[in-house]
Amino acid sequence: MRLEGKVAIITGGASGIGLATVKKFVREGAKVLIADINLAQAEAAVAEIDALGFPGATAAGQVNVSIYKEVEAVVALAVKTFGKLDIIFNNAGIAGGKPLLDHDPEVDYMPMIRVDQDGVYYGILAAGRQFRDQGTGGVIISTSSIYGEQAAELAFSYSAAKAAVISFTRSAAYELAEYGVRAVAITPGRVGTPIINQFSDELKTLFASEQMRNKLTLPEEIADTVAFLASDEANAINGTVVHVDDGYSAFKQRFD
Ligand code: NAD
Repeated sequence: MRLEGKVAIITGGASGIGLATVKKFVREGAKVLIADINLAQAEAAVAEIDALGFPGATAAGQVNVSIYKEVEAVVALAVKTFGKLDIIFNNAGIAGGKPLLDHDPEVDYMPMIRVDQDGVYYGILAAGRQFRDQGTGGVIISTSSIYGEQAAELAFSYSAAKAAVISFTRSAAYELAEYGVRAVAITPGRVGTPIINQFSDELKTLFASEQMRNKLTLPEEIADTVAFLASDEANAINGTVVHVDDGYSAFKQRFD
């Protein structure tokens, strides 16, 4: 119960890494606002978690993280529902891309930046203001990607947004230190969620082979790390990146 008594917002909490983290947080004693653009799926997640034996531990909130007023409203909803805010996991994201020279900037650049980059900035800003006003400190965890630290095919805009998440994390840790706030970014590698599961078996096998142990990471494995980072046990981890990629970023090629 390392998150006993804590209140968290998890954006993109209705699916994949976010949903696995909601379940982990609840098992660790937290109350969680599942904040997602897909309200029906967030409500289904609440029902599922109630049925798992944690009635009232979660609530659903609709948010488009690329609109600041909506992010601010979802922070207010968490406070109204559960009394305060201790943790925000800025995790909502979209993936995809085209070769750079095929870009229509309004289609292939801006939407990605609005969700994957602006959405994290807005989460840091709205939660940071709440932490300052509460005077209680807080933890900000944000989902970057292995692509935030390297170039990759069809990932020009995604890589830019995910690199910004790492930069935001360093600066937020500095700017909010006086309010007792910590900030950490995670860089997942290849995780078995709907973003990856939409691809062919051949591509999934290729993705798995890029990780050292030749398998996709489970969303639950990412959730375990996020719960640790959100807890007081990770109190010394601040303004940095935690790689949760099963060695992807340390690994170049296998020959079989
Ligand atoms: P997912 O598609 O299962 O979940 C993403 C969730 O975000 C969905 O519930 C979706 O409705 C929500 N969402 C999308 N746009 C939104 C918006 N504008 N406002 C609010 N919610 C929105 O994907 P996932 O794999 O769990 O991805 C979670 C995060 O992990 C993303 O930031 C993604 O870029 C990152 N990531 C995933 C992988 C991977 O291999 N799956 C690897 C690296 C990073």
